[in-house]
Amino acid sequence: MALGANLDDPQGAIELAVALLREATEVLAVSSLYKTKPVGGPEQPDYFNAVCIIQSEVSATDFLHMLQGIEKSMGRIRVERWGPRIIDLDLITFGDIQSSDPHLTLPHPRAHERRFVLEPWLEIEPTAHLVGRGLIEQILEELPPSQ
Ligand code: ATP
Ligand code: CA
Ligand code: CA
Repeated sequence: MALGANLDDPQGAIELAVALLREATEVLAVSSLYKTKPVGGPEQPDYFNAVCIIQSEVSATDFLHMLQGIEKSMGRIRVERWGPRIIDLDLITFGDIQSSDPHLTLPHPRAHERRFVLEPWLEIEPTAHLVGRGLIEQILEELPPSQ
């Protein structure tokens, strides 16, 4: 799963979210923090992003609800899509599940075009792949140089 934050103390927000994740589930690996320029949405501060690998017994839907619970407990308020936020927790893949449900699309529908997801992920799982798209290492090679 992927973490993003760009308000107040984004590094602190990501650290706190990882601590809360560790209480809720088994966190196998955490990437370093990546500072990135916002993509889409309004003018807003730079983001900090990271990716975690998690082992979970619960369903994908329950897992997303758990992520949304952490977002809420950290004070995330939904204002506008792609606007600035205290914390954003996205589910990137869940095993090899593919889903086009708008409430939970898997793999995440924009993960394959996002360096800020693929780069931290590659750091902690060099052989990772996105179902239907192939090795993330390969996808990154084919992405345009900046975001
Ligand atoms: P983006 O999806 O482009 O990263 P975002 O993270 O800013 O944008 P949100 O406002 O956080 O979007 O989420 C909008 C909705 O996306 C959520 O209500 C959630 O149900 C849905 N959603 C669908 N697929 C996923 C997924 N794989 N991970 C997280 N949320 C998802
Ligand atoms: Ca997101
Ligand atoms: Ca989100």
